[in-house]
Amino acid sequence: MEKQLPYKIYLSEEEMPRKWYNLRADMKQKPAALLNPATLQPLREEDLTPIFCEELVKQEFDDTTKFIDIPQEVLDFYKMYRPSPLVHATFLEKALDTPAKIFYKFEGNNTSGSHKLNSAIAQAYYAKKQGLKGVTTETGAGQWGTALSMACRYFGLDCKVFMVKCSYEQKPFRREVIRTFGASIIPSPSDTTEVGRRILAEHPGTTGSLGCAISEAVETAVSNEGYRYVLGSVLNQVLLHQSVIGLETKAALDKYGIRPDILIGCTGGGSNLGGFAAPFLGEMLRGEASYKIIGAEPASCPSFTRGVFAYDFCDTGNICPLAKMYTVGSQFIPSANHAGGLRFHGMSPVLSELYNQGLFEARAYEQTSVFEAAEMFAHAEGILPAPESSHAIRAAIDEALKCRENGEEKVIVFNLSGTGNFDLYAYKQFNDGTMTDYIPSDEEIAEALKALPKVE
Ligand SMILES: *Cc1c(COP(=O)(O)O)cnc(C)c1O
Repeated sequence: MEKQLPYKIYLSEEEMPRKWYNLRADMKQKPAALLNPATLQPLREEDLTPIFCEELVKQEFDDTTKFIDIPQEVLDFYKMYRPSPLVHATFLEKALDTPAKIFYKFEGNNTSGSHKLNSAIAQAYYAKKQGLKGVTTETGAGQWGTALSMACRYFGLDCKVFMVKCSYEQKPFRREVIRTFGASIIPSPSDTTEVGRRILAEHPGTTGSLGCAISEAVETAVSNEGYRYVLGSVLNQVLLHQSVIGLETKAALDKYGIRPDILIGCTGGGSNLGGFAAPFLGEMLRGEASYKIIGAEPASCPSFTRGVFAYDFCDTGNICPLAKMYTVGSQFIPSANHAGGLRFHGMSPVLSELYNQGLFEARAYEQTSVFEAAEMFAHAEGILPAPESSHAIRAAIDEALKCRENGEEKVIVFNLSGTGNFDLYAYKQFNDGTMTDYIPSDEEIAEALKALPKVE
């Protein structure tokens, strides 16, 4: 397999992808249409343009164009931190004493510390091109807000970020990075929106959720002239932009003739796994290859493993469109798990459709076992991983240990979606031995699912 395999595989500038890959073009059964929350009828492009940028709406609806040019301005920005390295995790292999070959694609190599910048810069570009004043958004753990503040600063756009309250309190340093890049930041639920005030009245003392922050950001966008709302995951357009991860990964593997057996990513709303696995899922859909693909999610918010495949609201306030997806219910408020970026009740409609077709598997992990994997990875490879990404590390380590038991030399490639440099409160709890594992009961999930909209 190895022709003088370097520890880190980089692509040259000429080898970098210049187009995003639209996985939907290769799907026979397309992801289900978004529905209007008021009428429950399929949304049309013109229903969404008051909320989202025009070009992004086009991308959201485009189920047929296989490759979409990455604008030159976005390619220029990508140069600052791309290509991201594909690392042969030789130190981790040694620590695990496994015959498996482990590689990881490292997306934490930029100030925002995660893959989210790949889509943030694209979305900011289209907002600027449309002549908008600014954008609003929500952020859970803070990575998306940071990425978007960087992207908006680059194009001179105003940026208003609603940050889930528990993260706002747990991550004062992320807050300051966002402010340094000139964005304004509001803890959610807040009293600056109608939906925020309603949620505060109904759930006093709530630490917030992504779904609730989304409602606030959308309300703010539609009630301010020259503003649109942008979202960092779940949507088809975001998976499209994130395909740059998978295209680079595939090009780097092909360069050295490495054929992966197992591909792994963590899943919050599905954008890093969806982007990372896109070219490989495409090969599977076209019947050209077969891989074992695994989505790793938190046991505290188990959309794939314990949710249902149904139409649901994307936000707690029920003002956003409905998507057909794996969901534990828009009224489900997950416990304060440290993987803030994975605390979303639903899942990308593209990945949901493919999961339903059996194209990949999902596993749920408890946070202490995730942090044990994070610690082992940090010791071996010298990178402090994000709690979110550590779900993928957990899955990769488990697969590598299986290879040790069975004496199999499989090639495992996982996406290291980001770094944990701003997650030290979580690491403190882990180091102090005070971290807990909260797993919702069947009754709790059933209760949240009772609020699913009735769609026929
Ligand atoms: C946001 C985030 C995730 C989860 O979001 P997806 O859309 O599922 O990728 C995972 N890892 C990191 C580091 C994140 O910031």
